[in-house]
Amino acid sequence: MDLSVKPGDDFYTYANGAWLKANPVPAKETRWGSFNELRDFNIKAVRTILNDAAAKTNAKAGSVEKRVGDFYAAGMDSATIDKLGYTPIKADLERIKGIKDVNGVLNEATYLRTVGAASPMFGFYIGQDRKNVENMVPQLSQGGTTLPDRDYYLKNDARNTKIQEAYKTYITKLFTLTGVDKATAEKNAETIFNLEKKMAEAQMARVEMRDPYKTYNKFAVADFSKTTPNMDWKSLMAKMKVTGQDTILVSSPKFFTELNGLLTSTPVADWQTYLQWNVLKSAAPYLSTDFVDANFAYNQALTGQKVQTPRWQRMSSLTDGTIGELLGQLYVAKHFKPEAKARMDEMIANLIKAYEIRIKGLDWMSAETKEKALAKLHAFRPKVGYPDNWKTYEGLEINRNTFFQNVRNAGQWGFNDMVSQLGKPVDRTKFGMTPPTVNAYYSPVMNEIVFPAGILQFPFFDPNADDAVNYGGIGAVIGHEISHGFDDSGSQYDKDGTLRNWWTAEDLAKFKEKAAALASQYDAYTVLDTVHVNGKLTLGENIGDLGGLNAAYEAFKMTKQGKSKKKIDGFTPDQRFFLSWAQVWRANTLPETAAQLIVTDPHSPGQYRTIGAPVNMDAWYKAFNVKPGDKLYIKPEDRNKIW
Ligand SMILES: [Zn+2]
Repeated sequence: MDLSVKPGDDFYTYANGAWLKANPVPAKETRWGSFNELRDFNIKAVRTILNDAAAKTNAKAGSVEKRVGDFYAAGMDSATIDKLGYTPIKADLERIKGIKDVNGVLNEATYLRTVGAASPMFGFYIGQDRKNVENMVPQLSQGGTTLPDRDYYLKNDARNTKIQEAYKTYITKLFTLTGVDKATAEKNAETIFNLEKKMAEAQMARVEMRDPYKTYNKFAVADFSKTTPNMDWKSLMAKMKVTGQDTILVSSPKFFTELNGLLTSTPVADWQTYLQWNVLKSAAPYLSTDFVDANFAYNQALTGQKVQTPRWQRMSSLTDGTIGELLGQLYVAKHFKPEAKARMDEMIANLIKAYEIRIKGLDWMSAETKEKALAKLHAFRPKVGYPDNWKTYEGLEINRNTFFQNVRNAGQWGFNDMVSQLGKPVDRTKFGMTPPTVNAYYSPVMNEIVFPAGILQFPFFDPNADDAVNYGGIGAVIGHEISHGFDDSGSQYDKDGTLRNWWTAEDLAKFKEKAAALASQYDAYTVLDTVHVNGKLTLGENIGDLGGLNAAYEAFKMTKQGKSKKKIDGFTPDQRFFLSWAQVWRANTLPETAAQLIVTDPHSPGQYRTIGAPVNMDAWYKAFNVKPGDKLYIKPEDRNKIW
């Protein structure tokens, strides 16, 4: 803490000042905060598991340990990887050279995704139909670009121009590493950038994509194909192993009509270059050192990271990201405590109880809408720790000396696994995050809140800490995920997860007005020089924080400590609650990374998450004696109150 600062002037520095000074961003990182510290702790735990598994040479063939150990060991064998250079993708690059026409382009674009090699041109996946959630349906989304957001192609300010140049250098470098002469490689970079720029122009903006109705466009497959005469989706889907489907959901139809035009207006030779690039960029992190270094140089321009993340850490993350439910079994056996789950179950129940009290007490909502909101609240399905049924990755081949092929095999296995969900009942047991993940989520179509084992540790959760600390930490996280069910997007889904309005017109208008006021509050926060938080992009997360912290506080006040005034270390229970919240969000961030996150991240930066919700809570003013004249002071009637 920095006790020289008045909490009412700068609560973030008051709660975190000493820590922020003592903990600059390590050279191999892009930000450093509570999340990163716990992630670092978890990845080290994972490393030990992986090293043990890899060293166990007598592990039974086909066992979890053997497969996980082999995957990791293959990734750590940099001598073999370096010897191969770009051999693992030579055949792909050659095959693409043989493409003769638009059909050949589309054949390749679909083939690459079925073998886990790349996802060029557009997004394709199988997911729940959000207006009919018991059905899994094929879905198309915009895509085709490489830079983190369409703005990077379209806005030519100094920051973006520098990144565009770094991107072109990266493209040039990867082509030259495959034997292409420098002049041709530079020409390729221009071709790729210009083609991707056209796709970026066709994309919807990130804020627009938050509208679940605008992005819900259901077509008969034949009708959709009529809007894209160069792309016959029945045959394209068959090439992606999907047959017998009459309908398709499209997030942004305009993107596909533009892509359809680009298919014939762009020379086939340019598409070949583009497809080769897609193979190259997807493969680069798994090829020899010169490819990995080029990839890092590009990332460095985006994020400002000083030195490459060590190989063991990249390979631990990769193992988690590709065969996470094999690794997860070993992680959970060692690090998940059943008593943590029991405590979590109890806290979730208390948060739901608090939320119920708050919904019943809302002064702006009619009884009719309240009844629907309560029905939705009581239909929430919480999941804690890890899935009941582990994925077995049956048929996925992993060998100790074929690193690149292992990664490809995992991609291919993932694609087949996704397609196999068509025509089957929705699997409600699955987790969208792996067990060591330090995060949590709400799924509107499942109406579920999910907390992986990884986040159930200090500083979010500590079974030995007082309730103030736990309710200000994981309690607020639970409240945040519940609130996603009632944010600007989640509130449009009903208790069954269906996208269907359950609000009266009057209540909905009031909710939108309250949300707009909250968006303005965050719009006023500055991050870097002239860069502001985007209140509309971060609205869902900010409603999550505001609703979540209020509900966590309400639940905390029901505990014995919440009712007492007994100080610990000189702080009252209420002060400890808000300090715990503030310390969860402490972080130092590199300026380059901060600039990227403002464009791409729906979460507000930690410093504003720290104060954004408390400055709207009367209890915070009382706890820290915040008075008119203090910099963070907001008049009681102007405080944002939603849930
Ligand atoms: Zn969230």
